[in-house]
Amino acid sequence: MNVHEYQAKQLLKQYGVPVALGAPAFTPDEAAKAAQGLPGPVWVVKAQIHAGGRGKGKFMEAEAGDKGGVRLAKSIDEVKAFAGQMLGRTLVTIQTGPAGRVVKRLYVEDGSAIARELYLSALVDRATSRIAFIASTEGGMDIEKVAHETPDKIVTLSIDPASGYSPFHGRKVASALKLEGDQIDQCVKLIEALYTAFVEKDMALLEINPLVVTKAGKLLCLDAKINFEDNALFRHKDVQEMRDIGEEDPAEVEASKHDLNYVKLDGEIGCMVNGAGLAMATMDIIKLYGSEPANFLDVGGGATKEKVAAAFKIILSDPNVKGILVNIFGGIMRCDIIAEGVVAAARDMAIKVPLVVRLEGTNVELGKQILAQSGLKIVPADNLADAAKKITDEVKKAA
Ligand code: GDP
Ligand code: MN
Repeated sequence: MNVHEYQAKQLLKQYGVPVALGAPAFTPDEAAKAAQGLPGPVWVVKAQIHAGGRGKGKFMEAEAGDKGGVRLAKSIDEVKAFAGQMLGRTLVTIQTGPAGRVVKRLYVEDGSAIARELYLSALVDRATSRIAFIASTEGGMDIEKVAHETPDKIVTLSIDPASGYSPFHGRKVASALKLEGDQIDQCVKLIEALYTAFVEKDMALLEINPLVVTKAGKLLCLDAKINFEDNALFRHKDVQEMRDIGEEDPAEVEASKHDLNYVKLDGEIGCMVNGAGLAMATMDIIKLYGSEPANFLDVGGGATKEKVAAAFKIILSDPNVKGILVNIFGGIMRCDIIAEGVVAAARDMAIKVPLVVRLEGTNVELGKQILAQSGLKIVPADNLADAAKKITDEVKKAA
């Protein structure tokens, strides 16, 4: 789960991480009011969307005076004007994709005088089972580009959760960031605070880009991105409350309500599969036969008729879907129960696109019989390859 920059900063602040003063705003008036509550004389108006690259982003249907999703304002009037310019418009950044994101919230922050922009992030490193910190003197820009062009400017250090944080970790990061004097101490405290927050809140990714050294010599987190581990959300009510479903794909939100693992993709073949591995294999074989999957969907081991129906609805809510491939292995579940679910859902939903069903496992013959006797136009398939071939052929025929 992702959160907005201002929410990430509010959370990090609780751990003593240095961030500027600021407040969220939903209207230009609220933005002006937020700015009045801050010292000034410079304020930053920042679009809050779940994507980075806002500073260099561009608004759709360009207007005079546009300058991306992060603006430095020199008066309260300017804050209000910039807020009016951003709210309700679609911001396109390298991370949003061409469709962009509508800006519905802003963050108004006290402006900082920047001496240096640095890069800092932390993530769970599965290879070492540790928490890796990544630091670079090249902050404020696209870190993937830095990694590609000047990999020597990126330093990685990992902290073993068994022994935890030690000040030498912080000193190592300070040296990688070429910090000196009192800034080394600030960095030691910062890394400890970030590490503690990361572990306590079950983060998967924490990125501060840029971490800045202000002209007054203070370290300050100017941007913050946090991704939380979904499987640990149940123990963080405060984090759950930060969820903004307006920033998530509507089909994925609906799927999460039914406990379905659904990820929307760009292809035309809707997939309904039980088991993540089988779902991946199904997507691969669809590609092998020359088409593209419209989604990843794992309905889970104990899919009921209701769950199957919900899954069909979600698949069909995607206008790109030209055909559906159901690929179910009846292990714990019986094929006849699944077939009944598929038939009931197909009737309820009045599915108009070709539907290929491959069943295998317990009671498979009975399952196939139920499909054949349903009177519905369901194309049965015998194996994975047969199923993939049939659905791609059917979609071509229907086109
Ligand atoms: P992003 O473009 O979505 O990553 O948004 P950031 O929060 O990283 O802001 C983009 C850039 O705006 C930063 O790299 C800074 O150069 C600049 N910026 C943000 N806040 C301030 C500020 O308080 N003062 C100054 N001078 N520049 C800022
Ligand atoms: Mn940034």
